[in-house]
Amino acid sequence: MKVLIVGGGGREHAIAYSVSKSRKVSKIYCAPGNAGIGMIAECVPIGAMEFDKIAAFAKEKEIDLTIVAMDDPLVGGLVDRLEEAGLRAFGPRKNAAILEGSKAFSKDLMKKYNIPTAAYENFDDPKAALAYLETADFPIVLKADGLALGKGVLICQDLDEAKTGVKEIMEDKKFGSAGNRLVIEEFMTGREVSVLSFVDGKNIRIMTSAQDHKRAGDGDTGLNTGGMGTFSPSPFYTEEVDSFCRKYIYQPTVDAMLAEGREFKGVIFFGLMLTEKGPRVLEYNARFGDPEAQVVLPRMKNDIIEVMEACIDGTLDQIDLEFEDNAAVCVVLASDGYPVKYEKGFVIQGLEKFEGQDSYFCFHAGTAKTEKGIVTNGGRVLGVTAKGDDLKEARKNAYAATEWITFENKYMRHDIGKAIDEA
Ligand code: ATP
Repeated sequence: MKVLIVGGGGREHAIAYSVSKSRKVSKIYCAPGNAGIGMIAECVPIGAMEFDKIAAFAKEKEIDLTIVAMDDPLVGGLVDRLEEAGLRAFGPRKNAAILEGSKAFSKDLMKKYNIPTAAYENFDDPKAALAYLETADFPIVLKADGLALGKGVLICQDLDEAKTGVKEIMEDKKFGSAGNRLVIEEFMTGREVSVLSFVDGKNIRIMTSAQDHKRAGDGDTGLNTGGMGTFSPSPFYTEEVDSFCRKYIYQPTVDAMLAEGREFKGVIFFGLMLTEKGPRVLEYNARFGDPEAQVVLPRMKNDIIEVMEACIDGTLDQIDLEFEDNAAVCVVLASDGYPVKYEKGFVIQGLEKFEGQDSYFCFHAGTAKTEKGIVTNGGRVLGVTAKGDDLKEARKNAYAATEWITFENKYMRHDIGKAIDEA
């Protein structure tokens, strides 16, 4: 079988790794891919938003399955475009990817179907939003409705900050049209857990839990980033939490989408907050998280292609997901200055140390192959993942492996998985 993966980040590298282990796959393409993905797939210079080119390429190469795992092409309707061309694709159609593409939609869905989440109001008019804030409790959370590269959420400590936030999002359009609508949400406290799942429209299968570290600096300080590291499983995701979420969150979300005529097939990422009152949904994503995929997929025992095909065919009820009884930690190696300003083009050394290892992985995010060798080509450069018998060992292994890699301006957090010690 020939598979095409759309995208070129660490998540797509982790997916490509899983696909490369499938007995069903003979050839992998990736558009556009990156230097690491290029070691296991043939990379083609087509951007993830070039829908016509992707469809034409998939037709020409007789691709059996195209995997779409990035938010923009999913929300923009790439899966629909491929299906119209008679091609098989993994990922939600546009009318289901709205679960991630519009926070106002997802909040209304949760309210309508009694799925536990923070209290909120949606606003189209900045004046109404400002008036609402006058009587609100603080801190409060402002969320741009649409996709904003993970930066569209502002936690405001007081009225002044919130007023500035409304202006930036709705009037100055800091996040473009993503800020045409605004969700104002109750501030919640608690531990955050990410749970990934496969969905076939009706049935849902839960993968193992994970936790990410969004802030740039140690001790969760500094700016929000795409993610500086992850660990899996989360020790805070207890059986009690799991059974609550299965009953009140996971299946109810799938059922709600179906009832709305928006059959969801693909991966749902549940961003949860474990509050004193119980688990609450913080956000939905319509795809694998990045870098959650880098700690979840290496632990999955199933053939990923079989699971993805079951999602498309509606036969996920015949599949039991199996995960290794161990743990994994991913530490992101970034370019110093990320997420604001950073240099690119530095040669990366030590990548060969990961070859032939089955408990250590170096997933490429921002890398490029040049005449000088493989160089840094983005803010997040690599995701170093290691497995271990338990979380502590996985963390020790992951940090040891970060030392195998050198490049100028290498930056990483030193406390990924610190929460493990508090469990
Ligand atoms: P991404 O898609 O990159 O994960 P996003 O822009 O969709 O991010 P959210 O995940 O909804 O944003 O929120 C980002 C972060 O803001 C959360 O991980 C959480 O730490 C915080 N946050 C969001 N909503 C709330 C809330 N109601 N109360 C407290 N914190 C919140």
